[in-house]
Amino acid sequence: MKKSYISGLCLLLCAAVIGAIAGKSFYDKRHFVEDIFPGDHVTEVMMLSEFNPNLEGTIGDTEIYVLKGEAEGGSLLVLGGTHPNEPAGHMAAILLEENALVTAGTVYVIPSINHSAFTHNDALEGSPQYLHFTNQSGEVRTFHYGSRATNPIDQWPDPNIYTHTSGQGLSGSETRNLNRCYPGIADGTITERVAYAVTNMINTLGIDMEIDLHESSPEYAVNNATVAHERAMAIAADGVLDLELSDISMSLEPSPVSLHGLTHRELGDFTNTYALLMETGNPSQGRLRGYTDEALALTGADPCYVINYDLGLLYVDYSSGDFPIELRVGRHLAGINAYIDAYNRVADANRQIVVEGIPSYDEMLENKVGYYLK
Ligand SMILES: [Zn+2]
Repeated sequence: MKKSYISGLCLLLCAAVIGAIAGKSFYDKRHFVEDIFPGDHVTEVMMLSEFNPNLEGTIGDTEIYVLKGEAEGGSLLVLGGTHPNEPAGHMAAILLEENALVTAGTVYVIPSINHSAFTHNDALEGSPQYLHFTNQSGEVRTFHYGSRATNPIDQWPDPNIYTHTSGQGLSGSETRNLNRCYPGIADGTITERVAYAVTNMINTLGIDMEIDLHESSPEYAVNNATVAHERAMAIAADGVLDLELSDISMSLEPSPVSLHGLTHRELGDFTNTYALLMETGNPSQGRLRGYTDEALALTGADPCYVINYDLGLLYVDYSSGDFPIELRVGRHLAGINAYIDAYNRVADANRQIVVEGIPSYDEMLENKVGYYLK
């Protein structure tokens, strides 16, 4: 056999081996089922497709954990995982449904609202595929670190320009960004179907308040912030004051009226809910970060961010040299608590929401995330 054929065959074999290894990694990520368990006080687990039958049997369908109190009252919807590369929102939602005890009203928690986006990573970002936490029994629980957008396996190809139902034009890839697709379309793309299901759920159940949990780059201006629809502004302002009094710094941003597709705009406009969105800083997401791995997503310790903090380029306090996930999850849970309290101060006596058992900010810093996982 000619020497060139032998080298050709060797190259082909190498490509096949690399392809098989990468293919297995893609396959495993796509089919991995996260360790999310219903908390002791979860009264029902519903599926999102109950609010849009077009999601039934698709990767867009996802669990809704219902915590219904013995006393009648108001209702709250918490969304985690709108952007699965922002893990504090996902983990805060999981800790909420696994720990909270609702005594009045109902809390609905959807930890993985863009389920498809959990099944892959953003290309060329070097993101970790999974995050691991050890619970009090010493068991390791594994969760996805996903992508900002729906998996292209489920929605392809992207248009050159994504035109929102309002007529707003965005870059084509935003067609797979759930937080640009609200209020959604019942029989639209998989991302639009998910958005429609949330809008329809809020309208069908008459949900009083909705909180969407996010993270953003430490160098992004809307950080350690709450964005509120104008009808929710009084509740948000009251909650922010409470948080500041507890030494949790939180800025307040009005939802831009002409920026369409986002929860804090469209759920406020197309439903009667009070729509809020919270952001905390995620060092594994920013442009100025250094080496990216699971440790960065969990601890935020990064010499590059320390340099950038000293240069005044960050919007989070990086003086300790890190920004760990317990701090970010703690901020989200403290925010949920503060906004429930603020909501109760304006809601009718028969629409109160009373929740116990949410770990406090100080408890989160002290005990860390795994401590509160079942
Ligand atoms: Zn986000």
